[in-house]
Amino acid sequence: MEKIYDVIIIGAGPAGLSAGLYAGRAKLDTLILEKEKAGGQIVTTEEVENYPGGVEDPTGPKLVARMVEQADSFGVERKLDEIKEINLDEKIKVVKGEKGEYKAKAIVIATGAKPRLLGAPGEKELTGKGVSYCATCDAAFFEDFDVYVIGGGDTAVEESLFISKFARKVTIVHRRDELRAAKSIQEKVFNNDKVDVIWNTEVKEIKGDGIVESMVLRNRETGEEKEIVANEEDGTFGIFVMVGYLPQTELFKGIIDMDDRGYIIGDENMKTNVEGVFVAGDCRVKTLRQVVTATADGAISAIQAEKYIENNFEE
Ligand code: NAP
Repeated sequence: MEKIYDVIIIGAGPAGLSAGLYAGRAKLDTLILEKEKAGGQIVTTEEVENYPGGVEDPTGPKLVARMVEQADSFGVERKLDEIKEINLDEKIKVVKGEKGEYKAKAIVIATGAKPRLLGAPGEKELTGKGVSYCATCDAAFFEDFDVYVIGGGDTAVEESLFISKFARKVTIVHRRDELRAAKSIQEKVFNNDKVDVIWNTEVKEIKGDGIVESMVLRNRETGEEKEIVANEEDGTFGIFVMVGYLPQTELFKGIIDMDDRGYIIGDENMKTNVEGVFVAGDCRVKTLRQVVTATADGAISAIQAEKYIENNFEE
């Protein structure tokens, strides 16, 4: 007979793995589907110092490895497959991947979000080596260093203020001549002696041998280029890229309710507009995207899935 799981979790970042842990522990027949490898965004973080209890060996990969091990220990099945299609019309939901078709009574969407990249040469190679996408995660590593924040929206401006508590100096590099961020936080930046703005400027290249050493900026009006080089004593500086995020939710467009930026709308119990479909982690509408909030979402979604199955499938 064709296998029908109790719950399929799409995505194996902290939200999906926590959903798996709770579902497995609730004795639900659970499958986690992941397109590449377990971990999500957190595996690109060298040190996770803000996850409660994670003091010992707190690197992103180690934290995820422990989460995987814990989910596995409760009998959760994991498969690598890229989902191409999903059918949520019937009571039994169907998920079609490149390698196979999977069925379940309930679905947890935990596909995450990814930071929008600049696309500048050197950016990818130096991510986690001076280039960061998360101030909450990494600002403390730049205590008394110079930091450049790329972007002009609320995130860039707000996080510049946060980073200025650690860094010697913060310079916002924005591609236009006015910030997109709310006026109230713009004022705070303009009144902060530690924060400057370079206008009409984009990042052309990031350079360094294993660590950020310099960055080439280009003025979009004059075409003039300038290379910012780390001061000799520091040897490096920080570059925080804050040019928006992209939720990984394309698959669900037109099927699940989202906001205008593509984040899935879930209620406080992680329920979406579709019965039996839950959402957890960075891909949902929320105010703080962190490992600690993702794992909490995952736990709630699994327990709600369990309740849903109990109420709708028990004979
Ligand atoms: P955002 O509003 O989309 O702003 C992205 C910024 O990055 C813009 O200034 C944009 O420049 C710039 N940018 C985009 N692509 C770029 C590129 N390739 N190179 C250089 N610069 C680039 O993103 P966000 O700041 O992350 O905010 C996302 C959403 O969350 C917004 O709706 C925001 O209001 C909200 N948010 C709210 C709060 C709050 O209310 N406290 C805090 C954070 C975020 P342009 O301005 O030229 O387009």
